[in-house]
Amino acid sequence: MSHTRFKRILLKIGGESLIGDRPYGIDPTAAMNVAEHIKQVYVKHVEVAVVIGGGNIFRGIAGSKNGIERATADYIGMLATVMNGLALQDALEKVGVPTRVQSALQMPAVAESFIRRKAMRHMEKGRVVILAAGTGVPYVTTDTGASLHALELKCDVLMKATKVDGIYDKDPAKHPNAKRYSTLTFKDAIENEAIEVMDTAALAMSSENNMPVMVFELFKGDNLLKAVEGVEIGTYVSNDVETKLAG
Ligand code: UDP
Repeated sequence: MSHTRFKRILLKIGGESLIGDRPYGIDPTAAMNVAEHIKQVYVKHVEVAVVIGGGNIFRGIAGSKNGIERATADYIGMLATVMNGLALQDALEKVGVPTRVQSALQMPAVAESFIRRKAMRHMEKGRVVILAAGTGVPYVTTDTGASLHALELKCDVLMKATKVDGIYDKDPAKHPNAKRYSTLTFKDAIENEAIEVMDTAALAMSSENNMPVMVFELFKGDNLLKAVEGVEIGTYVSNDVETKLAG
């Protein structure tokens, strides 16, 4: 057995990680790239549950702005996450990582239904569990699903792998002088309106239940592997740290 800081992780990846150079949808090469990153931690015997978003295909809020009823738009968004889950399953199995997809919306022809104890058993047996359809209910996003699943599956940490290498004091895409936090309290993450890293619901649930959240850039080097090994990358959000900017 190898020694990693975290034994069981909930990895939240946005749908955009599957988009590659396309304007929209799923790029198989990008999916393979994500799979290779996950394999790096899988071979270290880390138990992995993945919550996949759907933003590369459909986001409920955008759909509702275009005239679709919000709840219906959100269900369409959840279906997008199922498509992504299947694409990720395909990529992971191509690199030799056994998987199961579980969906919070029942879809027995393509995925198991989400059953908490079964998901935990899959992980114990060395399967990566891909959790699709978020929470299964509208008006929230997959970040909330990630927080819920991290808690109920007794994960050590919620890792949110994004395009940005951590949480900044202001949007780094708009402000070149934005500074990254190395550690951040949940209180500051929730109270500072300039910080838009996750839904407030997801942050509040993680905070109330002491589930630490790590935010880092997925595609940079071996970041996921480093994160599970305990190397300080990105931003670590917890009730047990002080808010500090990176050095
Ligand atoms: N969604 C939902 N309930 C959930 C999870 C997701 O209604 O529990 C819908 C929501 O419309 C969301 C869409 O699915 O916009 C896609 O998920 P998300 O926006 O979280 O994807 P990401 O930004 O992570 O790619």
